[in-house]
Amino acid sequence: MNEKEISIELSHSLSEWGVPKDTQFEFRRGVILVGIGYFRARGNDASSSIEDLTSPSSRRMLRDSNAALTDITAAFEYYLQYEDIIAPIFCYEDMINMDASEPYYRWYNISTRKIEYKLKPKFLGISSQYLDPFDRFRYEEMSKEEHFFSKWLVDNGNKAAIGGKLMEVYLGCHVLRYEVCFHCNSRKSIRWNGASISSWQALVCLTCNATYEVKTKANMEDVESAFRFNKIIGGSFEEFCKIRNSQLQPKMFCVLLPRKSIAKDPHTQVYPVYVAEITKGVPQLYHGAFNKRLPKLRFKTRLSVSLSTKKKWFDLPVPNTPVDVGGIGKKVFIDRFSMGKYCEMKKIYFGDNNDSSSDDESNNCNSNSEIIDAVAEITKGIRDIKIRHTSCATKEG
Ligand SMILES: [Zn+2]
Repeated sequence: MNEKEISIELSHSLSEWGVPKDTQFEFRRGVILVGIGYFRARGNDASSSIEDLTSPSSRRMLRDSNAALTDITAAFEYYLQYEDIIAPIFCYEDMINMDASEPYYRWYNISTRKIEYKLKPKFLGISSQYLDPFDRFRYEEMSKEEHFFSKWLVDNGNKAAIGGKLMEVYLGCHVLRYEVCFHCNSRKSIRWNGASISSWQALVCLTCNATYEVKTKANMEDVESAFRFNKIIGGSFEEFCKIRNSQLQPKMFCVLLPRKSIAKDPHTQVYPVYVAEITKGVPQLYHGAFNKRLPKLRFKTRLSVSLSTKKKWFDLPVPNTPVDVGGIGKKVFIDRFSMGKYCEMKKIYFGDNNDSSSDDESNNCNSNSEIIDAVAEITKGIRDIKIRHTSCATKEG
């Protein structure tokens, strides 16, 4: 990768969002300059996340967090206790209800030998004035309490987020105990770093410095197609560059697993865990780029992996009992904030409904699981209610 490739990639990404070249020249230029700045960022400076892992406080954090990985429930509770987010936090609303996806795709026109941009079929029929990304999204700032309450205790039609975290925590528990590093085969060398605010280092190997970015997909078909298309969307591009440019130059791997188990044999259900080495990461714009109240531009990373390195790492067994995600969320929320805040948030999100059943989130378990996400398999206790999406300032940015 070089700087020219980064600017070309961002230019395509801007056009896929429909940002015009003539009227938005300055914005486009700013995006490309920021992207190149991230690309140059070295991982050895004070803000480096990879360096952090060797500092005494990070060592302590890693030791404590890994001691907490006794079982999936304890580990999940630990994760919620330490989960953090960079303020300001915004939720967004996509006024055309298109899941905040970009309206255009790039396409190589053989006759003109140029890349052109075509409207995706699902956007046909929407008037172009509604596609302007600067008008399309409404952003509203939210407090940490609102953010965590909605993330932990309200299913906003996106159980994938908290369910994916639960899977990641469970994967960490299992790897620490039973698996060797995929890269160097060391035993007991992998540490879980999942509660850290930085992306890319959910699992790290203390022997060879390999980092593992964990991604979950709804089911095995989606895992296979993610490898087939080989354009996996990952976390912060700035963090990606810092790790890639750091002195350690760790091998970076992408771990993919389904949130729905498959039958290994007639008696055993498992989550097959696949891994491949990351070869390339390019910046991609997402809806947060159009929120002018965010202090700086953030990009996601579009990853490519080396398919010749793709291998099944191991089969993750299905846990014996479901995890009471809602119950743990409530407990940690009250611990971290207060009972008063919990009641206040509950009123905001669920209204004044004070009948006894409303407090027993577990009653609603699986009520809508098939339309929500296959992760309902091992979670319970998140209530089904549609809210606006939380976004922008998370580590995904
Ligand atoms: Zn290793």
